[in-house]
Amino acid sequence: MNDQPSSEADPRPRVVSGIAELRAAVAAMRQRGETIGLVPTMGALHEGHLSLVRAAGGECDRTVVSVFVNPTQFGPQEDLDQYPRTLASDVDQLREAQADLVFAPQASSMYPPGFSTYVQPSAVAQLWEGQSRPDHFRGVATIVLKLFHLIPADAAYFGHKDYQQTRVIQRMVQDLDVPIAIKVCPTVREADGLAMSSRNRYLSPQQREQALGLWRSLSLAREQVSGGQREATQIERQMREVLSQHGIQRIDYAALVDPETLESVAEVRGPVLALLAAYVGQTRLIDNLRLDI
Ligand code: AMP
Repeated sequence: MNDQPSSEADPRPRVVSGIAELRAAVAAMRQRGETIGLVPTMGALHEGHLSLVRAAGGECDRTVVSVFVNPTQFGPQEDLDQYPRTLASDVDQLREAQADLVFAPQASSMYPPGFSTYVQPSAVAQLWEGQSRPDHFRGVATIVLKLFHLIPADAAYFGHKDYQQTRVIQRMVQDLDVPIAIKVCPTVREADGLAMSSRNRYLSPQQREQALGLWRSLSLAREQVSGGQREATQIERQMREVLSQHGIQRIDYAALVDPETLESVAEVRGPVLALLAAYVGQTRLIDNLRLDI
């Protein structure tokens, strides 16, 4: 296979599924002295993912994108089987976004028989998503560390949309001395404010309307803070009210937290993050917004 720098004749991005093939392609980039940006995804790509690919492309010589629906981060009652798998159209979008290499492994090569070693993530993983989805971050940290070993990138790109995940990964690379810079890119939203998510495609048109409640709830929190409200419980109560007005009754959490520790805050005194997880029908959505005084 050709591992020369891309030319017009090159079928970029190259798509590999085998680990040996991946390692060889990445080693060739390294040998040429190229810097590498890695974008881990579960596929079903949208503009949010592509913004990470473009950010990587802007800062690194080569962009590697992984597309893998990681079974270990799904709970037993979750949507692993249903999760959209759209590799052909993902690759088309990645071509457009100028990715160089796509790693799309089979689950059996990431988790061969006998696989039994997991990363136990930090305390920050126990909060919020960790309460609602026990073991979720163990699966995330394990697959991300495996990807970091397979693809020794200079930088890896993650979305602010999954804010708690970025904190778990930042802590992991610090604690385990992984020499990869973690870059956090802004949440990409639909025109009306709904955060883009692969799971949005589960929503019926009516649920799509309801889902806007998440953004409205976060926006209200921001308005409250800029209007001088400092009591977190008051803001959280109103956030829940907005969700409820949109027909969203099942709320996992609606909280104001410290952006560093993710601990709840009682009072808004400095930078704060509003965090939400709620169900629209059967679809669980998360979002967050930074609220600055
Ligand atoms: P996923 O495929 O859902 O695992 O997401 C892969 C990466 O894309 C993660 O770093 C996400 O945080 C990021 N991402 C997902 N949705 C968005 C979005 N709307 N804006 C920015 N990044 C996103």
